[in-house]
Amino acid sequence: MSAESVTTRTTCPYCGVGCGVLATRAPDGSVAVKGDPDHPANFGLLCSKGTALADTLALEDRLLYPEIAGAGADWNAALDLVATRFSETIRVHGPDAVAFYVSGQILTEDYYVANKLMKGFIGSANIDTNSRLCMASAVAAHRRAFGTDTVPAIYADLEEADLVVLMGSNFAWCHPVLFQRLLQARKARGTKIIVIDPRRTITADVADLHLALEPDSDVALYLGLLNYLEAAGLRDDAFTEAHVAGLDAALAEARGMDIDAVATLTGLALRDIEAFYTLFARHERVVSVFSQGANQSVFGTDKGNAIINCHLLTGRIGKPGASPFSITGQPNAMGGREVGGLANMLAAHMNIEDEAARSRVQQFWNAPAMAGKPGLKAVDLFRAVGEGKVKALWIMSTNPVDSLPEADLVRKALETCPFVVVSDATRDTDTNAYADVLLPALTWGEKSGTVTNSERRISRQRSFLPAPGEARADWWHMAEVARRMGFAGFDYDSPAAIFREHAALSAFENDGTRDFDIGAYANVSEAAFDRLAPFQWPQPAGTVSRETRFFADGRFYTPDGKARMIAVKLPAVSKPLSAKYPLWLNTGRIRDQWHTMTRTAKASRLMGHFGEPFCEIHPDDAAEVGIGPASLVEVESRHGVIIVRALVTERQRRGSVFVPIHWTDQLASKGRVDALVDAMTDPVSGQPGSKRTPVSIRPFVAGWYGFAVTAAKPDCAGLPYWALSIAEGGYRLELAGQEAPADWQEFAGQLFGLGSGEGEWIAYYDREAGIARLAAFVGDRLVGSLFTAPQPVALSRRFITEALPQGHAGSARYRLLAGQGGADRPDPGAILCACFQVGVNQIAAAIREGLGDVEAIGAALKAGTNCGSCRSEIRRMLDESRLEKAG
Ligand code: SF4
Repeated sequence: MSAESVTTRTTCPYCGVGCGVLATRAPDGSVAVKGDPDHPANFGLLCSKGTALADTLALEDRLLYPEIAGAGADWNAALDLVATRFSETIRVHGPDAVAFYVSGQILTEDYYVANKLMKGFIGSANIDTNSRLCMASAVAAHRRAFGTDTVPAIYADLEEADLVVLMGSNFAWCHPVLFQRLLQARKARGTKIIVIDPRRTITADVADLHLALEPDSDVALYLGLLNYLEAAGLRDDAFTEAHVAGLDAALAEARGMDIDAVATLTGLALRDIEAFYTLFARHERVVSVFSQGANQSVFGTDKGNAIINCHLLTGRIGKPGASPFSITGQPNAMGGREVGGLANMLAAHMNIEDEAARSRVQQFWNAPAMAGKPGLKAVDLFRAVGEGKVKALWIMSTNPVDSLPEADLVRKALETCPFVVVSDATRDTDTNAYADVLLPALTWGEKSGTVTNSERRISRQRSFLPAPGEARADWWHMAEVARRMGFAGFDYDSPAAIFREHAALSAFENDGTRDFDIGAYANVSEAAFDRLAPFQWPQPAGTVSRETRFFADGRFYTPDGKARMIAVKLPAVSKPLSAKYPLWLNTGRIRDQWHTMTRTAKASRLMGHFGEPFCEIHPDDAAEVGIGPASLVEVESRHGVIIVRALVTERQRRGSVFVPIHWTDQLASKGRVDALVDAMTDPVSGQPGSKRTPVSIRPFVAGWYGFAVTAAKPDCAGLPYWALSIAEGGYRLELAGQEAPADWQEFAGQLFGLGSGEGEWIAYYDREAGIARLAAFVGDRLVGSLFTAPQPVALSRRFITEALPQGHAGSARYRLLAGQGGADRPDPGAILCACFQVGVNQIAAAIREGLGDVEAIGAALKAGTNCGSCRSEIRRMLDESRLEKAG
């Protein structure tokens, strides 16, 4: 270890913004993280997740050694077994009997090797990625409109626009740093913001106009906009005549979609639709951001094309402040697209359906068995596993047992699959439980390579920590298996070597015919790769790095060079609601968590915002079925049932509920929302419609509710409801059951991991009221405390959680059983500001004392003064307080 602190420039591993990070490792091994002021994605800003990265580096939960059938194995044995089983399966059943399921979490170099091995050497295109769940519809829309999967815009467009339309995007929580950049731009130039989202999200709070339309009615809204723009004479004749095909057919589909018709189909007020259309018409500089709310639909591709059509009609594309702009969810979804990591794409943005492209890639790779057709997309791939058609599966850095729709069927499919390999950094996930072979992978801080963000900017992820245990890079796993399968062409000795090959392929027989060209890096040296500064593609050989937009020149990548306006039809409603399932289930992300929480759940400060799975429900819908605030509810679809906390709020639209995607069986008894979601997919993109599944909701009838803190990880087996989160010094646990245990101390002792007779106990019982409060100590350390009641337990969770790492002696221990501090320690409430751990009660008190804006609250409490992710929620509290006063 260095005697001095060493700072490494790297990139955040979470969302598609792709923020630059400075990670500083001190001589004692500790790591501090801050935003890189020189990175063009974030200019020093980080959100709450990025800010907490250093808290996620502990190794306790890591997979550090290869395992075969749950037992430790050496690398040779594990790799030999993978190679043998894959080779044998291919020999007996053919190449389509094997598959890879990879992830937007892996680096471009990993992705490149996976794609090359499957499509060029195994001879199947059965490689798909969890990016299928995120933005496959945007890819399909781009390819239909532009001939290739090209994102025309750059982040600066958000700052140069006069109008930004956020379509199906909770920007404030899902792309927080871009949201901060947008708000700063608005301050400077008065940018108008429109949010199109059935939910009143935090993002919607700052909008000039929020269109809370019926779920999945966005195509109607955009057909109406196209019709309106044409009628208003806003067609860019010069642009469309020279550069656009399909205009008449697209307009014909939109004809008749006047504002009245749109109002009927969307449930929006006439004046709101008119306001949107007028604003769009009036502003030449308009950026339409579309994200998961658009993509995760059974007509997601049509939604993307309906948006793009409006930009093509008006010529507002690829110009400063004017473009459609698909924003990706994952840190390297774009890198995966570049190497062809989707089952229906080829490397370097070439089309797998194009025979010439296939033979070009085959020639470049000197590949023995090029895939001749697209492979299975994620949902179909796991169906094929369940049907026994895919017999050997390799999953990398993703958790499909939790994240794919109809997730219980995925679990069953893995149970029956003859051979499952998982490469992961985490030892215990819901997916790893089904692995025949586990391969330990590197994670953020250890791995080295490149990622591409939503504006086509390629940045380095650099290692600043040694590889722990025997963990190795994903590309190394695959190269070793490829060699053992007898394939030449995988003798890479570094990520730079893979990047050079990737860059060379992008330039191979390109000559400006393909959008993706980074030929300038085909000969990059190891040292230059190490120093590589973020750059945007394209950058052909002989050119220098510069910011690039696409398509303002009217040149598209179709055979005739023209863009296509797609004749998007008004879709039929996919499935009617029934008396049995009368609500629509919408799913999505929350501010402080990432995917299935394998990383973010390690940071206690990120667990304070929401510590358990929940369901947002409108008060009227809740009242109809007798659901009270903070009670537990069962949400049921035709695929299963989950139990989550009710969050009754008017922000949720009537008739719909929202449940976050993050919780797994590792952290809650029954919180896997994707077990409920229909596996219906968009017919073009194969992306599942994760935002619209019919469900019912009812109270979970509990006999008792509890809250506990424990120093050791509790064993929750057998409890009907539990949700676990990490806390400083241990864990916090929400729990509930039907029958109250006969002996609370015995129950609590098991929970705390204490044997009979162990620990010093204090307890308070009110048997008539059904209340029990207990705490156990070993020496002066609190090893566990349990509070139970017949209703959801009301106490200061923060006060009790903060007691975990403290010493406790004498009568002061009894204060703990009160469940809250005295007047000198008011309950701060649930954490709103993750950076400075400021709670909602503290902010509410500051507002009551007269602090009237976000800046004043920041000055008094520091809340919102670091990453800024909570500023919108503070603003919302201020607005609500003003409304209350006015009322
Ligand atoms: Fe990471 Fe947050 Fe930046 Fe996304 S916005 S890349 S999560 S720091």
